[in-house]
Amino acid sequence: MIDYSKYPAEPFRIKSVEPVHMINRAQREQVIKEAGYNTFLINSEDVYIDLLTDSGTNAMSDRQWGGLMVGDEAYAGSRNFHHLEDTVREYFGFKHLVPTHQGRGAENILSQIAIKPGQYVPGNMYFTTTRYHQERNGGIFVDVIRDEAHDASLSIPFKGDIDLNKLQKLIDEKGAENIAYLCLAVTVNLAGGQPVSMANMRAVRELTNKYGIKIFFDATRCVENAYFIKEQEEGYADKSIAEIVHEMFSYGDGCTMSGKKDCLVNIGGFLCMNDEELFMKAKEMVVVYEGMPSYGGMAGRDMEAMAIGLKESMQYEYIQHRILQVRYLGDLLLEAGIPIIEPVGGHAVFLDARRFCPHLTQDQFPAQSLAANLYVECGVRSMERGIVSAGRDPHTGENHRPKLETVRLTIPRRVYTYKHMDVVAEGVKKLYKHRETIRGLRFAYEPKQLRFFTARFEFI
Ligand SMILES: *Cc1c(COP(=O)(O)O)cnc(C)c1O
Repeated sequence: MIDYSKYPAEPFRIKSVEPVHMINRAQREQVIKEAGYNTFLINSEDVYIDLLTDSGTNAMSDRQWGGLMVGDEAYAGSRNFHHLEDTVREYFGFKHLVPTHQGRGAENILSQIAIKPGQYVPGNMYFTTTRYHQERNGGIFVDVIRDEAHDASLSIPFKGDIDLNKLQKLIDEKGAENIAYLCLAVTVNLAGGQPVSMANMRAVRELTNKYGIKIFFDATRCVENAYFIKEQEEGYADKSIAEIVHEMFSYGDGCTMSGKKDCLVNIGGFLCMNDEELFMKAKEMVVVYEGMPSYGGMAGRDMEAMAIGLKESMQYEYIQHRILQVRYLGDLLLEAGIPIIEPVGGHAVFLDARRFCPHLTQDQFPAQSLAANLYVECGVRSMERGIVSAGRDPHTGENHRPKLETVRLTIPRRVYTYKHMDVVAEGVKKLYKHRETIRGLRFAYEPKQLRFFTARFEFI
């Protein structure tokens, strides 16, 4: 029996459903083989519970669906753009908004206008598309997250914090003028959805202010980060989620946002900034890559749904259920002795493939194989977040070797119930019992960029 004082029941009623079904084991074995053991290459119809990503997989509310009907599809000056602009200004507090088709559209533009070749871009751990755009524009990414973030089994709060000493050292060694800006991710996806404390953001702002270094947030999961601050940081228990989000962003100069996560929609994103000159440059770029500055690759109706979704995401009942449902799955796995990243973060439970498959070396892609095997075991789709996702160093061609070698069970927002989490946990437990049968993989096809999306593998 679920303890509903610990894990609150769904704060919504289900009004529309999408049937799912499970194909049999022999079929799943065939499907994963045809997909080159890459869960990104499986068809959705062959998946029973889809935990590939929380990106664009959100269920919209009746109000958001209603919003789609009032889309103003004018080429320029859509009223939905103004609604979105007002909403983002209200919650985030940034002066200017540039809409984009999704988060990486915003990353592309920011990287082009704010990085000079050879400049450093410190960040609290990397994100795949973010780092890709930084490097493509000549930036050099430097990880300044606290060391503890790389230790999967260390359960301490705010593992996403920036290590101020690392940042100070970078400034001292390279000079502030050689730092493009600091990218501050809230929460930190690849560290396991780990939050950043308000105290840390404040301290980082003070330090960067001394040197005139700008801070751009990766705001993708800012609402989830705000929940952790309310739950765990002294002085924030009585503050609303909206107040916390507002304070977080008061320490930044702008942000990139993937609306496909915390905005509770299926597509969209934006870039924000306070600086006028940078805003002019961003508007010049957005027409090249995205569309007019008043739609940026989104339909009017998408912008309306996003404005409504952002507002809904600030409701306490929503975000509390969201975080605690993820924690529920994590707690089930921990009780069964399954190695996961601790503490459980905001959007996903990450299996620790190093401890799950100690018989495989990192070069045998343990997390990639674990994700493939989990699909065969129970029809649950997950994603590798380890050496395959980390890619190669663009200068040396060598594989990046992240300490964290994980499989991400990512929970879409407002889509699955606690019962689904039970089924996922049972599947993982069953696989764990015969984990020594998980075999190593090697590349059959390795794409040059962002290889994890379309790579193919074969058994060694
Ligand atoms: C998803 C994501 C992005 C990229 O956004 P897209 O909408 O997928 O292009 C950037 N940063 C983080 C932390 C993300 O999770």
